[in-house]
Amino acid sequence: MLQVQNIDVHYGKIHAIKNISFEVKHKEIVTLIGANGAGKTTILKTLSKILKPTSGDVIFKGENIKSIQPYNMIKMGLAHAPEGRRIFSQMTVLENLEMGAFIRKETKAQLAQEMEVVFTRFPRLKERRSQTAGTLSGGEQQMLAIGRALMSKPEILLMDEPSMGLAPILVDEIFNIIEEINNAGTTILLVEQNANRALQIADRAYVLETGKIVMQGDAKELMNRDEIKKAYLGG
Ligand code: ATP
Repeated sequence: MLQVQNIDVHYGKIHAIKNISFEVKHKEIVTLIGANGAGKTTILKTLSKILKPTSGDVIFKGENIKSIQPYNMIKMGLAHAPEGRRIFSQMTVLENLEMGAFIRKETKAQLAQEMEVVFTRFPRLKERRSQTAGTLSGGEQQMLAIGRALMSKPEILLMDEPSMGLAPILVDEIFNIIEEINNAGTTILLVEQNANRALQIADRAYVLETGKIVMQGDAKELMNRDEIKKAYLGG
């Protein structure tokens, strides 16, 4: 579904991504793990065309994304739930969700139907649909960011640190939801610092260090490697 081929990404002189290649297959959960600053967010921003690679190619559903307008990435089925819960804090929950479907130019009936799907997955958002998003708790804002991305009915969902800053019980809930979304047919590329939890739900993983992929493989197999245990799983 998604092939990343030898991409480099720079911020001015900073070489943030160094010749990275990886792939995500249909219906997989693939996770990119790595410490702060390893380049995880930069990769997701490149895939959703917020950033441009300085070299290399990204192929999405057989098409090179170079020739695709950023807003058409969503139409083609790629959605990005960004880190830091970048929701529209002055808007209501309902308005945030509507924004997620905006680009698809849907009928009111389709919109209502998708909204119901999101509300079924996130009943808390339904209860709070008229509330301003900025007044939601951290966990609720995270759910809204995911719900908003789901409103575009993505084939692949890019998720940036969905568990960041959440209480352990909410972390469990978020990871369960990610698995449910995947079971319902959506391919997932998950960026996480919580390597333990990410590896538990992923099919495959890539380990990123200072802009390079240093290890890759089956997620369960990686979990058992000593170097992963030491560096990422707390011993
Ligand atoms: P985090 O978990 O902290 O978000 P990350 O793995 O997602 O880490 P990135 O945010 O992708 O890492 O950052 C990769 C590298 O690029 C870091 O060295 C970072 O300092 C640098 N970087 C990120 N954004 C910018 C920017 N806007 N300008 C300059 N350098 C940047």
